[in-house]
Amino acid sequence: MLRTVYVNGRYVPESEASVSVFDRGFLFADGIYEVTAVLKGRLVDFEGHAARLHRSLNELNMHLSLNDNALRDIHRQLIDKNALQEGLVYLQVTRGVADRDFAYPESQTPATVVAFTQQKPIIDSPLAERGLKVISLPDMRWGRRDIKTVQLLYPSMAKMEAKKRGADDAWLVESGLVTEGSSSNAWIVDHDNTLITRELSRSLLHGITRRTVMQLAREHDMKVEERGFTIKEAQNAREAFMTSATSLVYPVVSIDQRPVGSGEPGEIARALRRLYIEASLEAMDAGQN
Ligand code: PMP
Repeated sequence: MLRTVYVNGRYVPESEASVSVFDRGFLFADGIYEVTAVLKGRLVDFEGHAARLHRSLNELNMHLSLNDNALRDIHRQLIDKNALQEGLVYLQVTRGVADRDFAYPESQTPATVVAFTQQKPIIDSPLAERGLKVISLPDMRWGRRDIKTVQLLYPSMAKMEAKKRGADDAWLVESGLVTEGSSSNAWIVDHDNTLITRELSRSLLHGITRRTVMQLAREHDMKVEERGFTIKEAQNAREAFMTSATSLVYPVVSIDQRPVGSGEPGEIARALRRLYIEASLEAMDAGQN
């Protein structure tokens, strides 16, 4: 089925959706993006994603003439036009079209805005049932990982390396500590049932799912500690898991071929996943998103 895609103010069939070869997103990866999950045809945590989009835009001195209501309307229209029940809306904003030059034009170029839907089973996810095997790799990305840019070559290579080694994903390590997953935040649960995830900084993306999961955990009297941890600590933890918008919570069952805990998806990861789904559906029923 041909999807309907949003390109700079127009809704067009995907076969007609295109941007200029001079777009700075294409030439310099001069662009940012957001991915918002869709459950039962509704957006999950949209406010958080919109807020982070603005933060990314500000950090890169990029300008977008659409406010949050307009952005939300684009998301909703895409969901309707594509009859999307479960999956995601991808939104990308680049600095737009200019003659190729490392320095971008001082005057504001109109941003290029593209958005599309993608179907994905989220609630009944086979990966969530079986848990993920991860490998560790050195974190070789740039120093502003808090900005959600489209320069995703290293994470993409890390994922391919994981696949090549018979695993599902990679956790990235810098100065001996895990920063995050290739496209997710990394968590462990210690033997006192304390949840541990890296503190926020420029070294990692400030995950929207991370924030919501942390809030839910605290509301349910779980202890959360924000600090770095080593691969060894993770291998010896009671549980490990990762969070991202379209995986929600995925249990991690092995790290560098060593089973974590029993080697099966952990109870706390499964409970957090359930809580996250419940809370998202409740927020929808309450008319948010
Ligand atoms: N870290 C990285 C590097 C990511 O790419 C992602 C997902 N895009 C995340 C963390 C998780 O962020 P979120 O929960 O907002 O999807």
